[in-house]
Amino acid sequence: MFLTISTIGTDQRPATDLGFLLHKHPDKSQSFTTAHGLAHVFYPEASAERCTAALLLEVDPISLVRRGRGAKGRGSGSPDFALSQYVNDRPYAASSLLAVALSAVFKSAMKGDCKTRPELAAEPQPLVIELPAVPAKGGAELVRGLFEPLGWQVEAEPLPLDVSFPEWGDSRYVGLRLTGALRLAEALSQLYVLLPVLDDAKHYWVSPDEVDKLLARGEGWLAEHPERQLIVRRYFSRRWSLARAANDRLELARLAEADDREPEELDNAVPEETATAEGEPEEPRPAPLAVRRRAAIVERLREANAKRVLDLGCGEAALVAELLKDRSFTEIVGVEVSARALAIAARRLRLERMNERQAARVKLMQGALTYTDARLTGYDAAVLSEVIEHLDEERLPALEYAVFGAARPGTVVVTTPNVEYNVRWETLPAGQVRHADHRFEWDRAQFRAWAERTAGTYGYTVALGPVGDEDPEVGPPTQLAAFTRIDDTTATTTPKGESR
Ligand code: SAH
Repeated sequence: MFLTISTIGTDQRPATDLGFLLHKHPDKSQSFTTAHGLAHVFYPEASAERCTAALLLEVDPISLVRRGRGAKGRGSGSPDFALSQYVNDRPYAASSLLAVALSAVFKSAMKGDCKTRPELAAEPQPLVIELPAVPAKGGAELVRGLFEPLGWQVEAEPLPLDVSFPEWGDSRYVGLRLTGALRLAEALSQLYVLLPVLDDAKHYWVSPDEVDKLLARGEGWLAEHPERQLIVRRYFSRRWSLARAANDRLELARLAEADDREPEELDNAVPEETATAEGEPEEPRPAPLAVRRRAAIVERLREANAKRVLDLGCGEAALVAELLKDRSFTEIVGVEVSARALAIAARRLRLERMNERQAARVKLMQGALTYTDARLTGYDAAVLSEVIEHLDEERLPALEYAVFGAARPGTVVVTTPNVEYNVRWETLPAGQVRHADHRFEWDRAQFRAWAERTAGTYGYTVALGPVGDEDPEVGPPTQLAAFTRIDDTTATTTPKGESR
């Protein structure tokens, strides 16, 4: 396995400065013992004009077999025949093993540490990286798809299966040449992550701290990479739980970046309706339905003079953020079952950076709405915005009891899609619900029947209303019900810290 890194010199600095960055002297040839064999580092050329460092890994096939014991075929690209443990491409093709060697031999360089020339490590360098044989499942096209978005100019030549028999076609290997101006640490980190991704064989790294490692190596480039999903999936060799954990954290990183750039963008990033945004081309574009829904809810809460509000199934806390803008809401609590959504919510609200007074007004907590929860009692109002349709219909009575029977806020505002309106979403195939997780979608009569029955059972009155423009035939896209508690036996507001 072989890889070279080349750079050119400038008037100010000789190309051999590469040696400082790599922490390897250009005049020396050095060898290192790594997990999978001997790694040699040497410089085929080292002049002021041009300097090339080479990494050659002599894979020890016996070590591969030993390490693979008990885990069939590990490290052997194709574990389908007995001899594959000994006869395989590993010694020749750049792969996950080379990635491991890279990180062992160029550890400091990959981290961007360079005590002698810190300015070099911090700056993009003109680089050419060459790998004569890269196993590339997905071919040259995927190689380009992985490296081009990172700013590399990519030359990926498919290698023939056998040069003497061109009619046999191409192998799954490519000769790869990357040209670009990147920080060396970044370039090495990208290779560390992407070589095994291209290889897509079983790797050795499948421990939980691999998620941290991937995030560290992917910092600054992976979160926004268009092929992120594929990269994460393959990197973890389909260990779904690790892949999912990594994806969640990368999503947070991406949102954090997006957040810093453009807060408005997030405001519209409500998963459901924005995917099928309304279009009334002749008019100035109406606000997205999610925005109108939040406005309608806030209006009802103001009418009810609610101060302390629960947002039940708050998701990523778009409504919580909206309520925070209005000082009349003194306490806002988001409740959500999904830890992932809560983490995104905390990030988007900038909970950590919030000043004390703001922070005192808002709280996020994890909870399941189908169970009674003492923490939810004593509030003026509760919102269930696009939540009920996420529960199996037979679980709904449990939620009704927990909210209307046990928590018993003075006001409950419920919104849900109006299924009749679905025919107006041009992008929605006939008969399909609006969101993959919707367990049901009701027409207006069904929602009214549910609302009236629930109000009757628990001692509330209810007023129904539309959200979004009403269509004369099929009604509004979203329906809203505002419940008001009738009996005055339960105190409406319990100031914080006081017991009732
Ligand atoms: N209220 C938000 C999010 C709606 S999506 C909005 O209007 O945009 C529905 C949300 O309800 C999801 O975040 C889902 O995780 C949450 N949810 C579904 N069932 C739940 C339950 N039983 N307990 C708590 N939250 C639940």
